[in-house]
Amino acid sequence: MANGMDDRRKGLEDEYFHRKNQEAIEKLRAKMKVAEEAKAAGTSSMQCPRCDGRLHEAEVAEVTIDTCDKCGGVWLDSGEFEDITKKDKGGWFSRYWGAD
Ligand SMILES: [Zn+2]
Repeated sequence: MANGMDDRRKGLEDEYFHRKNQEAIEKLRAKMKVAEEAKAAGTSSMQCPRCDGRLHEAEVAEVTIDTCDKCGGVWLDSGEFEDITKKDKGGWFSRYWGAD
């Protein structure tokens, strides 16, 4: 019966996508676990965009930034630089960048 075949195929497709979803969820969970463990250990799990060093969180003017343990690069997320210059009003940072 044609319909029976379609149902069977549909079932297999559903199973396939269900399994794919499960795999994706498992991968995401594993990734989150690594990030959580790194956070618990006081390190960021992110890799430096410039070298193969690891980024560590540091606080500057109450803003969390990422610094590389290898090349010493400093990485800011969107808005973080603005936060620093704002919080450092009158400080060397804002004087340097001409903001006040
Ligand atoms: Zn680096």
